[in-house]
Amino acid sequence: MQIEFIGGARTVTGSQHLLHINGKKILLECGLFQGRRSETYEKNKNFKFNPAEIDALILSHAHIDHSGNIPNLVSKGFDGLIYATSATVDLCQIMLRDSAHLQEKDIEFVNKKRKKKNESPIDPLYTLEDVEKAMQQFVGVQYNRTIDLFPGIRFTFRDAGHILGSAGVHLEIEEAGNKKISLGFSGDIGRPDSPVIKSPDILRDLDVLIMESTYGNRLHSPAEEVEEDFSSTISKVINDGGKVIIPAFAVGRTQTIVYMLHKLFDQNRIPEVPIYVDSPLAVEATNIFRSHPECMDRETYRIFLEEGTDPFGFGRLKYIKKSEESKELNEKSGPMIIISASGMAEGGRILHHLAHNIGNSKNLILFVGYAAEHTLARRIMDGNEKVNIFGEEFEVKAKIKKMDYFSGHADQKELLDYLRLNQQNKLKNIFLVHGEEDMALPFREKLLEKGFKNVQFPASGEIINI
Ligand SMILES: [Zn+2]
Ligand SMILES: [Zn+2]
Repeated sequence: MQIEFIGGARTVTGSQHLLHINGKKILLECGLFQGRRSETYEKNKNFKFNPAEIDALILSHAHIDHSGNIPNLVSKGFDGLIYATSATVDLCQIMLRDSAHLQEKDIEFVNKKRKKKNESPIDPLYTLEDVEKAMQQFVGVQYNRTIDLFPGIRFTFRDAGHILGSAGVHLEIEEAGNKKISLGFSGDIGRPDSPVIKSPDILRDLDVLIMESTYGNRLHSPAEEVEEDFSSTISKVINDGGKVIIPAFAVGRTQTIVYMLHKLFDQNRIPEVPIYVDSPLAVEATNIFRSHPECMDRETYRIFLEEGTDPFGFGRLKYIKKSEESKELNEKSGPMIIISASGMAEGGRILHHLAHNIGNSKNLILFVGYAAEHTLARRIMDGNEKVNIFGEEFEVKAKIKKMDYFSGHADQKELLDYLRLNQQNKLKNIFLVHGEEDMALPFREKLLEKGFKNVQFPASGEIINI
């Protein structure tokens, strides 16, 4: 068999790994490259292979850097099945639609500019119609159920503990001549004991592992300190009469924050103030979380579900869908907590909350996720004294804080723990993907130190025979 590394190779976004097994072409992930539009549009538009020749797609989870190019793949001729967990299928429904909407809006803006320069308009990467078509090819598969994909190719999803529905993929392959290969694809690996969802399950007895390395050279803060830090930080701002603004991804991070606030309020560790979740996508995503209790961890059951209470709903919390209601929040005074998307503050309603609140030193902007370079969230995090929002300059007077605990990705120690049941002598190859050089290369050194052999960091375009 062969593994062809295409996207998410020596970078984090655009995950795509193509397996050639027994004459079949199986694609793992079909993610979107993210970054500057000028660099990513062509890269996303044109595949390195013929989509019509792909026999099946296996998807680890719903994040756009893994799923976001599926509608384009389908519109270019892929008509096979797309295997994902049931929760991933549900999340893809809303996330791919949202993505199509963003693509269309984005291209409108580009085409206005092109028109001024007398250039012909370009098409969006895909449309809502392409998403609807793609959704018909999805098949929901339960965790821990083995699926016979093609002769000599079986796979099983194991919980990856990264977002709702996320999975690692274990492929059991039998090639001509009885050659057997046990191949693991980690997907994105979550943190053990993270709130709401389960801890990552391990892929065992592997010969070959394709493994993510996002935080291969970093250690996150320990879980014990986080609740205390989170509640005391928020309480202080509220007691001083300020507002807490939390930019957060609508899917996953928002629900984790809501869960944590719910728990801390019930324990009287945060004063009584109104909390607003202001993002239509977050509202839809929260409903999907509610409909998948099978993905929740024991703590969520113990504190909420067994009592018949909703982890994502409580008296002081209001979900906001309508944009008029969102704007009304600007007029409200007094302490409050606002959670809004997008997490990197590149678009969405968070922009007007930042514009209204960043200039007041009583307020706190609390970052709970990663922000890429050149994004507004990153500029604020990096301590810029002035930032541009809606083309207007704002002085940053609010307090700024960043908490890495809520990261959906395992850190170096947790990635090493993930490998603990795979003996160095059986595991013949490890391929590090989904990581930048400064994270993956030190992690590679660590693995070699621990006695793992053949640890590679393949570049895009590399094809490896197994
Ligand atoms: Zn992910
Ligand atoms: Zn990812």
